[in-house]
Amino acid sequence: MSGKIRVRFAPSPTGFLHLGGARTALFNMLYAKHNNGVFVLRIEDTDRERSTDEYIDAILNGMKWLGLDYDEGPLRQTDRFDIYKKYVEQLISEGKAYHCYCSPEELEARRKEAMSEGRPLKYNGKCRNLKEPAAGVNPVVRFRMPQEGVTMVDDLIRGTITFENEQLDDLIISRSDGTPTYNLTVVVDDVDMGITHIVRGDDHLNNTPRQLQLYKAFGYEVPKFAHLPMILGSDKARLSKRHGATSVMAYYDMGYLPEALINYLVRLGWSYGDQEIFTSEELVKYFSFENVGKAASVFNPEKLLWLNGQYIINSDPEKLTELVIPFLVKDGTVTEGQEPDRAWLVKAVETLQERAKTLIELAASLKYYIAEDVEFDEKAKKKFLQESSRNLLNELKEGLSSMDDFSESKIEELFRAICEKHEVKLGKLAQPVRVALTGGTQSPGIFEVLDVVGKEKAIRRIEKAIEVIGN
Ligand code: GLU
Repeated sequence: MSGKIRVRFAPSPTGFLHLGGARTALFNMLYAKHNNGVFVLRIEDTDRERSTDEYIDAILNGMKWLGLDYDEGPLRQTDRFDIYKKYVEQLISEGKAYHCYCSPEELEARRKEAMSEGRPLKYNGKCRNLKEPAAGVNPVVRFRMPQEGVTMVDDLIRGTITFENEQLDDLIISRSDGTPTYNLTVVVDDVDMGITHIVRGDDHLNNTPRQLQLYKAFGYEVPKFAHLPMILGSDKARLSKRHGATSVMAYYDMGYLPEALINYLVRLGWSYGDQEIFTSEELVKYFSFENVGKAASVFNPEKLLWLNGQYIINSDPEKLTELVIPFLVKDGTVTEGQEPDRAWLVKAVETLQERAKTLIELAASLKYYIAEDVEFDEKAKKKFLQESSRNLLNELKEGLSSMDDFSESKIEELFRAICEKHEVKLGKLAQPVRVALTGGTQSPGIFEVLDVVGKEKAIRRIEKAIEVIGN
């Protein structure tokens, strides 16, 4: 195994791509890229009742959105039954596996007995040395596990973990209907695909000594392992829907940027000094398992939101505009195919990108630029659209109407002149205008807002605010 590093992500398509799976895929991809290796995607769909094509598509979509690019695959285990059969037969012919004719009822009775006597629930080896097959029974195939000594797993994150072989059962590798079991398919595929490093969640650690014996039985150099610590919720329970959305595409729907989610996921377990924000090139360059901790990580949605805000601030406005359009269509601000002028929209986005933490927030703010009318926030209306603002607003309206050069600096000059004349602070005029133009009290600088909204629309909105005061 002196060639390239080969890793794989092996999701079971029994659900959407979730945060834990995405992080596993990410660590695999980074490790491969860092080492100039190969990243294989393998779909473990042998559980035919729970696996669906929709989930396969959902996993592929999630990976695509996050930029988790694989070099080979997707391979599907259900296309590979002939291969598994061949490997099972090889083990039988070498005496490393045997047919077992014990019936489920028999096994259950023994299990109960062992339980009541407080013995380990282990196969008793009855068929290990059977000379003659039992008539009329479709046997399962069991792997002959070593019964003495220990199995040592070298893990790049946890160091060496020792398992007593006594604890290991003679594993069923093929069912009575001839279908292979999970532990067999994983190992055969890893062998067949030349996998050198197995990077997966540490919920699989229990399977590892069993699988390790299988690699050995196939004469395959045992791969290196990296078992990733779990991701927990804030209450230290395993991450679940209770702690927030766990499906990757839910974060697309909530207006997250894929780069931000990737940056968040990589920090769940991995660190590089105290750097928080990484470019994708930096991730590839710095990634190693030495910097992955042993302890479980806690999912922190606030930090993810903060990171997303950072990525939005630092995004190229043109790219951000491209990304926000689907959200504008979705919330009905824009009709597909009738998008506002692109250059104008980019300018609007630029005024907002420092304040929006998600694309949804960005779209919501863009609404007051794009829509014909604004809706007044009741509190803002009560507080700022008052009798005392009427004259100021009227004067502003007149001033704006007679402006030829509707630029930010000219608008500012006008504001200052009006406020000076009436001996009021700028805010006295700016806040009512803000409510008139945006419906609320939070927005980018008012001159910027006026500039983007444009003369005609701005005047109409101010007129409407004056009307509201009148009533
Ligand atoms: N199919 C397994 C899962 O989705 C992963 C098996 C492995 O990585 O070895 O949990």
